[in-house]
Amino acid sequence: MSITPEAITTVLEKGRAAGLAASGGKNADYIPYLASVPSDLFGIAVVTADGQVFKTGDADFAFAIESISKVFTLALVMEKIGAEAVHKKVGADPTGLPFNSVIALELHGGRPLSPLVNAGAIATTSLVPGDSADACWKAILDCQSRFAGRQISLSDEVNRSEQTTNFHNRAIAWLLYSAGTCYSDPMQAVDVYTRQCSTLVTTIELATMGATLAAGGINPVSKERVIAASNTGPILAEMAMEGLYTASGDWAFNVGLPGKSGVGGGLLAVVPGELAIAAFSPPLDPAGNSVRGLAAVAAVAKALDRNLFQPH
Ligand code: GLN
Repeated sequence: MSITPEAITTVLEKGRAAGLAASGGKNADYIPYLASVPSDLFGIAVVTADGQVFKTGDADFAFAIESISKVFTLALVMEKIGAEAVHKKVGADPTGLPFNSVIALELHGGRPLSPLVNAGAIATTSLVPGDSADACWKAILDCQSRFAGRQISLSDEVNRSEQTTNFHNRAIAWLLYSAGTCYSDPMQAVDVYTRQCSTLVTTIELATMGATLAAGGINPVSKERVIAASNTGPILAEMAMEGLYTASGDWAFNVGLPGKSGVGGGLLAVVPGELAIAAFSPPLDPAGNSVRGLAAVAAVAKALDRNLFQPH
């Protein structure tokens, strides 16, 4: 899709106004670092499948990717073992429960259902080939970097904050392990999963990562093929089903695009074949989605008249 600079200015202004009008929410504080990020930061970016980049606000501020990393580790594992193998071992259904739910696991005999909730993401990370935590981590960091089109880095500060408080996720990993659905040493899986959540991305990089999915696996900025085109459909389907956790249905109803949120305040939505929209604003609603991000991305999608279920 080709967008003129005049048209995109209006679209981004609508997104910004909608985001600023959405009040409420609170920074995540169960990870101490996230509570310290200024709540008033707010950025929006759009990257098209042919490589145009547009932004407004604090789109250059680097924030913790958190759960949005789940999408890219899923992509890596699909590349390594095939989409169907991931589907069988992890699943593709919404849990209907919060992202860190233990009950969801118990209800389904230890099968996590979705690679986009913590249990399924830890299981997915445990499927990354590699004979050490560092080897798996290197593959994940390299994958995030190729999606972003530049070298992504771990934040030692975020990682330390998470590694010293991630007891709930460690419990999930042991439950997976006892059910036979953690495919590496469980503490290694949590260690690597925690690192993958602790990288820093800007809103522009996040939109570029999404645009790589929109463009069938080719990064439209670096022009590199990052994943097979055949894996992008299954990834976007997973995002549509569970990308916004318990709000995924409302999001599909209202916006109609595959999306993914993170407790760092990032939110990504993808228009297959055309573009990606990303936003960042730290205060979250009770489901763990950015309040301003939701309003801004929804407004941008509406202004662009893009909704998968409502063809323009
Ligand atoms: N690292 C966070 C966790 O495991 C990610 C959660 C999220 O962004 N929803 O709890």
